[in-house]
This record gives sequence, C-alpha cells and structure tokens, in this order.
Amino acid sequence: MCGIVGIADAEGVSFPLYYALFALQHRGQESAGISTFDAGKLHNHKAQGLIAEVFNRDILSRLTGSVGIGHVRYPTTGENRPENNQPLNFSFKGHIFSIVHNGNLVNSTRLSSEYEDEGHIFATTTDTEVIAAIIARELTRSESMEEAINLCMQKLKGSYSVIAMLDGTIYAFRDPLGIKPLCIGKTENGYMVASESVAMDALGAQFLRDMKPGELIRIDSEGISCRQITRSNHTGLCIFEYVYFARSDSVIDGVLVYDVRKKIGEMLHQEAPVQAEIISPVPDSGTAFATGYSEASGIPFKEGLIKNRYIGRTFIMPTQKLRENAVRMKLNPVRGHIAGKSVVLVDDSIVRGTTSRRIIDLVREFGAREVHFRVGSPPIIAPCYLGVDLPTRKELIAHNRPPEQVCSRIAADSLHHISLEALIRATGHAPEDLCCGCLTGCYPLEIEGERSNCRSIDFVDGTYQMKLEI
Ligand code: AMP
Repeated sequence: MCGIVGIADAEGVSFPLYYALFALQHRGQESAGISTFDAGKLHNHKAQGLIAEVFNRDILSRLTGSVGIGHVRYPTTGENRPENNQPLNFSFKGHIFSIVHNGNLVNSTRLSSEYEDEGHIFATTTDTEVIAAIIARELTRSESMEEAINLCMQKLKGSYSVIAMLDGTIYAFRDPLGIKPLCIGKTENGYMVASESVAMDALGAQFLRDMKPGELIRIDSEGISCRQITRSNHTGLCIFEYVYFARSDSVIDGVLVYDVRKKIGEMLHQEAPVQAEIISPVPDSGTAFATGYSEASGIPFKEGLIKNRYIGRTFIMPTQKLRENAVRMKLNPVRGHIAGKSVVLVDDSIVRGTTSRRIIDLVREFGAREVHFRVGSPPIIAPCYLGVDLPTRKELIAHNRPPEQVCSRIAADSLHHISLEALIRATGHAPEDLCCGCLTGCYPLEIEGERSNCRSIDFVDGTYQMKLEI
C-alpha cells in the first residue's frame, strides 16, 4: 500500500505536494519522493524515510514548477532499496516521464520477462517500472498518451492506481476493479488527484469525486478531462482500506471511513455482548471502532493504552529481546483506568497474533481483571496479492485455526471478530463490489493457485470521452 498524489497548479506545486504527502504518510513510511516539471526540466528528490526526514525548505524550494507528482512507499513488491523509491523518472524520445503507483500487479513477472526477452533492461525490482516500460513501448506505436495507457491497461493484471507525468501533463488511471482508491480535487488554480480525500483537506482543496474504476483522467494547464477506459460488471475495492489502511477522516468511494469503523464497533457489541467496565481502543486505529462499541453497549469508552506518537521506523532496537519489548515503548497502559477492571480491547485486525498477545499480556500486567478482545475484521485466513502486506498462510494465526484456539494463543478471556456479513453491511457496498480475498481466500481476479470470482471487464471504444461534471 502506498500513497500517491499529482497536482497541476499555476501557483507552484512542491509545497502542496509535500503537505498532501504528509496527509498520506499513514499509507507508507519507508520512503518518500517528489518530481516536478518546470520549463522542460525535471526536478526530483526522493529518499528512504518519513516525509519530515526526506524534505526540508531548501529542497522543496528547488523543486520548481507548476506540475508534479509525489509518493510515499510501503513496500510490497520490490525490496526496500533506494532504487525502488518513487517517483521513477525516465527520459524517452525527448520526453520526460515520471510515474508513481499504488498497488500490486499479479502478472508483473511474466510481463517483465517478456520485455527482457526483447532486450529491455530494468533498473529496479518494482512492478511500477514494468508499467512505465509498457506505456513507453505503446507510446512508440500510438497517437497519444491516452491511447498508450489504454493499451497498457489491457496488459496489466492486478491492482493499480497510477499517476504519470509526461512533460507538463498529468495522467491518472485506476484499475478496472478500482481495488485501490484514487480521487480528484480542485485546488485554487488547478486540479489534483490523490489516494485519499484527506490530501485535499490538507490543502484546503475541494474534493470533487472518486475516480471511477477503469477511468483515465488528464490534467494540464487547460484543465481536466476524463475518459472511461474499461467497464466492468462489478468492482473490487479492498475492504482493508475501510478496516485499517485509510485514515478515518477520508471518504473512499463515497463512504466516510470513520462511519464504517463506528458501525463495525456497534455490530461487534451486538454480535458478542460482554459484561465489562471499560472499552478501550488499541490506538490509534481502534478508536473509531471503540466509539461505536461504547455507544451501542453503554460501556464507558476509556483509553486503557496510550501510544507514544514519536516512535517511528528509525527507532533503534538492536537485539531480539529489545524488539520483543517494542510494544512497551509504543503503547503504555493507564493503570488507573484498567487495574481491577474487566476491559474490552478493540483492534482493527489480527495478522500473526504477536501484537495482540503482547498487548493483552501488558494490560494484564497493569492489573486488568479480564481482557475481552474484539476485532474489526473477520479472521485473516489468506494472503493479499494486491498490495497489502499480509503474509503467507503459514504465518497467519487464523489460517486453519478456529477462533477458540486463537483466543487461547493470544491469552484473551474472550475473542470475537466481526462477521463478514456485518463488515460488508457497514461499508454500504454490495459484496460483489469489494475485494475480501484475505478474509475468504477468493479473489476478484485470476491469481495462480487461488480461487477467484472474476468480474467481467470490457474495454470501451477508445473514442468514448466525457467531461468532468463540476
Ligand atoms: P500481528 O497480529 O502481530 O501480526 O499484528 C496485527 C497489528 O498490525 C494490528 O493491530 C494492525 O493494526 C496492524 N496491521 C494489520 N495489517 C497490517 C499490515 N498489512 N501492515 C502493517 N500493519 C498491519
């Protein structure tokens, strides 16, 4: 999962891109980068680290221009190496081309070896470079960038929200199933596109709408135009965006993430009521769930754990013992809130189970009498191939293990996961419009060795155009 943004605004873009990436920092903390285009030249800066570590005023002042794109990286394909940082930048037949991508292709190995067989060399191990190579190849044979992207999308399989910059023009496109989010906004003197609406809020820009699955938009100094490249009978938005990934204050595909999490909290109480004295979130992602749980149950919401906001990627933990202790550095129980109490703890998900076990042990150590664990997602039983770092089946605690056994492994007094039906209801989307692959083992597109409930996707006649309704 990564965060991406593109802005074309006559007033200059480097600072707005920086603010937008700041708002998207939760989508990736490994590296950050910005590319801008000014008077025929590319300006670029990218490095490993958080936005605040990678950029400063001087660097941003050097990134001149009224068009640019940015990225925060959370690695799924391609190791965490400097050459994999984005934007990726190329010069090509007199053009300057940059690209950022959120998602994961499931056919990138096949595509890259096809290109390598023809002598193409790749400088990174990311699937993003494969997308760039295909666009460049198609651009040599087609009339326009729009046509090249249309042809490229016919080759890609997987999840991709992409923003590309060819000279001074931005092109953004979303995969036919809309697996990853992407939305459009209006800045004071131009337009922007970003992974989540919070990026627009951060700039005081006006959120216009979500991009449609299979849609391509083009933004330049003339304005914005939209084109539907594919139509499919159903979509496949990643349900984990609502559960964990997106910020609670984002609106994704028309639905406020906070509302979904709050409803999940209410339904967690309805599905498995428990006698308890406080309900506490595992911060920060558990907060909206706990609010809903508290309102539905009447059990007081109290913070039983406080998060140290400053512990980050660079926190030094040289030994395994210290790493195991990291949860103590990250989360500190509030003894006065939990000692002698029966506590409901709510978190968004259990993946390997190690975090939950440590948190529950810690809460008991600080005096909780009972710990009831409530989880905002159904058990994760299968890996994600589409951009969320969810490990192999072997590593997933809920794979082939019933909830009672998971409950005893994490040492909770009781454990309840939201049911899949309730989760889907909370999103307000139809079940066939969501990707729930990690929860069901059934994916919305073909993945080798896995079950799928494939959606039919048609490529629309290349002449179909529409203007953005503002
Ligand atoms: P664990 O069960 O120890 O593997 O970790 C579960 C915790 O990791 C949950 O509290 C989530 O907030 C968080 N989490 C869930 N999915 C992911 C993910 N794909 N990447 C990073 N953290 C995650």
